[in-house]
Amino acid sequence: MYYIVINFTNDTMADEKFDCIIVGAGPAGLSAGYTLAKAGLSAIIIERGDYPGAKTVMGGILYSHAIGELIPDFCKEAPLERPITEQRVLLLTEDASIQAGYKTKKFAQEPYNSFSVLRAQFDGWLAQKVDQAGVMVIPKTLVDTVLKENNQVIGIKTDQGEILYADCVLACDGINSLLAQKAGLHQEWQPQDVALAVKEVLTLPKEKIQDRFNLEDNEGCAIEFMGTISHGMTGIGFLYTNKESISLGMGCLLSNYQKSLIKPYDLIEEVKSHPAIKRFIDGAQTEEYLAHLIPEGGYNRVPPLYTDGMLVCGDAALLVNSIHREGSNLAIKSGILAAQTVIEAKNKKDFSKKTLSLYKKKIEESFIIQDLKKYRRLPHLLHTRNELFSRYPQLASEIAAELLTVDGRSKAEKEKKIIAKILGTHSLCGWGKMAFDFWRATR
Ligand SMILES: Cc1cc2nc3c(=O)[nH]c(=O)nc-3n(C[C@H](O)[C@H](O)[C@H](O)COP(=O)(O)OP(=O)(O)OC[C@H]3O[C@@H](n4cnc5c(N)ncnc54)[C@H](O)[C@@H]3O)c2cc1C
Repeated sequence: MYYIVINFTNDTMADEKFDCIIVGAGPAGLSAGYTLAKAGLSAIIIERGDYPGAKTVMGGILYSHAIGELIPDFCKEAPLERPITEQRVLLLTEDASIQAGYKTKKFAQEPYNSFSVLRAQFDGWLAQKVDQAGVMVIPKTLVDTVLKENNQVIGIKTDQGEILYADCVLACDGINSLLAQKAGLHQEWQPQDVALAVKEVLTLPKEKIQDRFNLEDNEGCAIEFMGTISHGMTGIGFLYTNKESISLGMGCLLSNYQKSLIKPYDLIEEVKSHPAIKRFIDGAQTEEYLAHLIPEGGYNRVPPLYTDGMLVCGDAALLVNSIHREGSNLAIKSGILAAQTVIEAKNKKDFSKKTLSLYKKKIEESFIIQDLKKYRRLPHLLHTRNELFSRYPQLASEIAAELLTVDGRSKAEKEKKIIAKILGTHSLCGWGKMAFDFWRATR
């Protein structure tokens, strides 16, 4: 696959005005571009990476519902790794693990629930679809700022000084979103609003993967893990099976890393040597090593989504449901909704804030804000109750060990010991308050 590289110094190009300029060729930008192309609007996507997917990082589970809305036949064409047929959750302590899981062959059939993907390949494929539909993707170009006239965004300027004009600019430029910042929609994120994740892609022969994870050809496994492994930091790890590789990573709040002085690359090495993880990756070769931020602030930190002549989508607007590790589907859906708003604005010939506020309404009516709103209190709880990543997993492990050790002591004696451990952690009132806080945080 190759891209047409436009010389922006060409005056004709610089003078051209588009219906829409999209900054960022991730899932949000590409979905917006595809939707606009299908509606016959003139648009262009500008990407700073050498190619789409060069700069993106994802665990990466791709959910079918969103990409299926954009390209119904995606599962026949897209470079997908494995349909995820099994999900496991591991609670890890230093030397033990507690596991829960769900497996069904139904997830290996249409309409499919989700797939593991490698983003460099997936983004490249989607960019090609967008290109074929009629919207050009321009790589190797960093957008530096937005141009404004009477407070209305009217175009962009690249770091090379080239200028392009449009009725509307979509900021799909990921978590750091220089564009939304330049448009005055938000300040830099606070360290407690983002997690720093480190990810490795580890190659392993297909047979070994299937053997170790108990999978057949058309099956995949997604494992999430948490516990004392994060040393009390709010964090979660993942292990996803691809066809011939494993994606392994761990993300913790940036503010926790700053305080604990733990190095993310030391933590990932520790994760890799944990007995419950090591057996899956033994003998695997590290093919890629990546680090990226993940939005964690939730509903209360979502910035304004629009201004005159501009909309913000995906990670740039912190649209990530970190509780369910969903981000790509929110990015795709928000890209589609932004494009639909641009189409309506074009019909009205009005790109003012008033018309573009339709985007906010669409986002609010979709699963995006409904899910984020449901969990609006949870980020604060997870960020402040660090027992979840220290005392509670340890307690759960000790209870399991007590229950499962057969040593001639009576069950009544064991029960007494377990109750003493539970009440030694919190009083009954304390446990009641904790349960209530969690119940309330998910309502
Ligand atoms: C470690 C990790 C694991 C994750 N796991 C999952 C998962 O399993 N499932 C899931 O659904 N989500 C997951 N996510 C979240 C998911 O990756 C994001 O929500 C999703 O990629 C957001 O898409 P986006 O298009 O908004 O932004 P991005 O994918 O970040 O794309 C933004 C694009 O904009 C480009 N860009 C940035 N600035 C500029 C600029 N100034 N000029 C030009 N181009 C620019 C970038 O190069 C990039 O290509 C994970 C994230 C991380 C970091």
